Amino acid sequence: MIDLIVAGGGVAGMFAAITAARQGKEVVILEKNDTLGKKILITGNGRCNFTNESMNSGYYESNSLDIKDSFVSTVINKFGKDDLLRELDDLGMSYYVREGYYYPRTDEAVTFRDTLVNEIDRLPSVRVVYNYNLRSIEKTDGGYILSNKTDTYEAKNVLIATGGKSAPKTGSSGDSYYYLEKLGHNILKPYPALTNLKADYPDTLQGVNALASISLIIDGETVGTERGFIKFYKGMLSGIPIYQHSIKAVPAVETGKKVTISVDFIRDTNAKCAINRIGLGISQALSQSINPKIVDSYLNRLHISTNKTTEEFDDYTKDKILRLFSAVNYEIIGFGEFENAQSTFGGVDISEIDPETMESKKCPGLYLAGEVVDITGKCGGYNIQWATSTGVIVGRSV
Ligand SMILES: Cc1cc2nc3c(=O)[nH]c(=O)nc-3n(C[C@H](O)[C@H](O)[C@H](O)COP(=O)(O)OP(=O)(O)OC[C@H]3O[C@@H](n4cnc5c(N)ncnc54)[C@H](O)[C@@H]3O)c2cc1C
Repeated sequence: MIDLIVAGGGVAGMFAAITAARQGKEVVILEKNDTLGKKILITGNGRCNFTNESMNSGYYESNSLDIKDSFVSTVINKFGKDDLLRELDDLGMSYYVREGYYYPRTDEAVTFRDTLVNEIDRLPSVRVVYNYNLRSIEKTDGGYILSNKTDTYEAKNVLIATGGKSAPKTGSSGDSYYYLEKLGHNILKPYPALTNLKADYPDTLQGVNALASISLIIDGETVGTERGFIKFYKGMLSGIPIYQHSIKAVPAVETGKKVTISVDFIRDTNAKCAINRIGLGISQALSQSINPKIVDSYLNRLHISTNKTTEEFDDYTKDKILRLFSAVNYEIIGFGEFENAQSTFGGVDISEIDPETMESKKCPGLYLAGEVVDITGKCGGYNIQWATSTGVIVGRSV
């Protein structure tokens, strides 16, 4: 008899299967691909940043703002960063931490994936069915029947861990939203998250990478500021601060709101000192703190000759120049689609899930874990931690 069917063999599905099997449960994983954890291989630029030193509900976003913090806190208090590190210690995987971000010591994402697969292979009560493309979930009196074109599996407990819609080439193409909706769940519209934002900017900036303070403004209201490197890449704004902002920016663009990224290239620089030094060209002076391509592009916009020297400007104009570089605004006119996104914003409404068990309140015996749930972590290992935490909770709950 099967105790738990896990649909989707990603991080969440694998952790749930391992945890349940260790408690003597018979588990079957139904996986669309011919391998487990395909997405893990492309995480963290191939290095897999699996958790973060700094962990709290503030690193997570959701549509359900009223209950998000308590929901996430319940989950990460049950199984958080330290629990994950202890688990990896027990599994014998080595890791290191850089600037708060945790990676496998090998610096290879495959190590994290293989550590989980090795454990699954070691546990006799987990069976993996590969190349199984789940097509329907049917509720019966005693549980659920899951089917593809040819084979059906039945169990009292089912975990849907089929991921969101990001990077669909890895297998997670949002298939389960439809079945979950048919079973009565509210699915909040999925949007690409942790993705690039499209804006018009001078061609001369292509390829430029600049440290700055980057604010997101939606309909005139500043909703957050991130510090880090902004990258001007193929007509898009990119880099970790942009990814973080994309979680809120993409739904706002899609719902017709005015979305602006405002970049402060001046904060924490010595540009003010340089612009007041005598005998420097204005471009030279500013370029001691800001990338020269950025300096020249925006001086040109103000019709200021880059050849003029600092003493040729009065204090008012110098102040105007500094103000220009402290708030360069880019209107967001699009975003990277799911193919280029690292996560999904939206999914199963968290008000329909019990965070103590990750069981659906609509369908007893049906559990949800990982990216399919309407919780999106920021860059920094928060999504893999989320998939891990929710997967372990399900494994314990069944
Ligand atoms: C490029 C990139 C980089 C990333 N980097 C990081 C990072 O460094 N740190 C971090 O924390 N997060 C990162 N993420 C996000 C993170 O990888 C995901 O949030 C996390 O892996 C989600 O885990 P999951 O188990 O919920 O879903 P997934 O890993 O997506 O697993 C879902 C599984 O379900 C299977 N499946 C889907 N549909 C079906 C079906 N119909 N039938 C059967 N099986 C099905 C899929 O094949 C897949 O194996 C990154 C994502 C991307 C795309």
